[in-house]
Amino acid sequence: MRIVLLGTPGGGKGTQAKLICNYFNIPHISTGDIFRGKIKEGTAEGEVISSYMEKGQLVPDRLTISLVEERLIKDDCKNGFLLDGFPRDEKQAEALDLIMNKKNEQVNFAFLIDVSKEIILDRVLGRRVCPVCRESYHVKYNPPKVPGKCDVCGTALVHRPDDQKEIILDRLTIYNQTTQPILEFYEKKGILHKIKGDGGIQDIFSQISGVLKEA
Ligand code: AMP
Repeated sequence: MRIVLLGTPGGGKGTQAKLICNYFNIPHISTGDIFRGKIKEGTAEGEVISSYMEKGQLVPDRLTISLVEERLIKDDCKNGFLLDGFPRDEKQAEALDLIMNKKNEQVNFAFLIDVSKEIILDRVLGRRVCPVCRESYHVKYNPPKVPGKCDVCGTALVHRPDDQKEIILDRLTIYNQTTQPILEFYEKKGILHKIKGDGGIQDIFSQISGVLKEA
């Protein structure tokens, strides 16, 4: 199964992506994580990426698309994958189609996790992540066992710089402008599934896995 997971920043994509990938045993490909990895490597490419990300802006398509293609041709994607954070605009959706065509494959599910702005702010402002193993927590809804420390590796958790209120509001504006055409793109193909994302983690997961199991 080749899945595209769409939804606002902070809408719970990352959490659902992990659950889906564990359950169906496919790799979780997050462009945000690929970028954060590049920044950590300290390369010139990482510096370019960082200059966009820290302002909440989209990284240029050319660079983004080439990094995604590089990842999708790896062996572990042979039996499927889940893309989280990509495509983010129509050009990227078309580029993904081209990458798939080259491999004689196609995306067969696009999920939109639909969440209200109030809930997104609440989730993002309380989100804390582990900078080492990338586990994600929420101070109220999914707190770590020891406050401020990662359950998995014990590292001090951080509030991502692009999860601050002004930046998240900018990211939401960009999202609203760029996502509508992607929804139409996948709706036309008949593979778009809209999921109500205001509920709990398990409730959202059962809506998604219900669709995947039926297929
Ligand atoms: P995320 O972890 O998905 O919330 O992404 C964090 C940041 O990475 C975004 O605010 C963008 O700056 C950048 N980013 C992630 N995915 C993409 C993409 N598909 N195209 C361009 N920029 C992206």
